[in-house]
Amino acid sequence: MVYKYNLGNKAFFLFVSLLLIFSLQLQAKTLQSRLIQGGFHIGKVQPHEDIIYKGQSVRVDETGRFIIGFGRDASLKQSYIVRSGLGQQRQVDLKLEKRDYKVQRIKGVARKYVTPPERVLKRIRNDNRQVKEARKYDTEYGFFFKGFLRPAEGPVSGVYGSQRYFNGKPRRPHFGLDIAGPVGAGILAPAAGVVRLAESDMYYSGGTLIIDHGAGISSSFLHLSKLNVKAGQKVKRGEVVAEMGATGRVTGPHLDWRINWFDVRMDPALMLIE
Ligand SMILES: [Zn+2]
Repeated sequence: MVYKYNLGNKAFFLFVSLLLIFSLQLQAKTLQSRLIQGGFHIGKVQPHEDIIYKGQSVRVDETGRFIIGFGRDASLKQSYIVRSGLGQQRQVDLKLEKRDYKVQRIKGVARKYVTPPERVLKRIRNDNRQVKEARKYDTEYGFFFKGFLRPAEGPVSGVYGSQRYFNGKPRRPHFGLDIAGPVGAGILAPAAGVVRLAESDMYYSGGTLIIDHGAGISSSFLHLSKLNVKAGQKVKRGEVVAEMGATGRVTGPHLDWRINWFDVRMDPALMLIE
């Protein structure tokens, strides 16, 4: 009897442990907050509650989830307001971890990309306008909650946040995750979404693709040699949407992958789930 009872006990504990491991694995499949500069906060409130961040309303999905993105130099003290019905509201404070960024010196960049000639300034402005438009969508999709797949194979050749010098001249920091590889290598949609921009020839970024993953979260893919999709098209997670290239301001073939929350530039490496 005692022996039998013990066996039952062991089996029960084994069962509970397996259940725990399984549920932890399930949990790991959804994106969790990364409270650090370049990171993001994923929160949960009642679906009928409103979130106000920096005076703006933030989309809350039907289960009460929402995301707030933090930029490269975001203030370490963050807060948002949760508003429920009947005028009740509370403030939630968040503390971000500070980051140190690398300095990246890039030599051998064509002069026209370090100091663009007068005649291309209009084109650059137009490119910027199109990119801005493509990143302003606030759709009900929540495809990013599952986290992102690595969109290309290959060594990381550039990280988010680096202060950059082109041919010795200081320029804007780098906001992407660069993955080096051969021209023609397949680029996968890291999460499902809708294509908002598909341009084969932008001045700095060359072949450029922007996918809207919902609630203001978008991926941008730069320097592509070929685009397989068009603006307005829906894409699945893992679908081959483009080919790696060396178009625009590059010193070699690579993918520059960026993630935005509207115009806030975040670190794609923090959103990978593998
Ligand atoms: Zn890059």
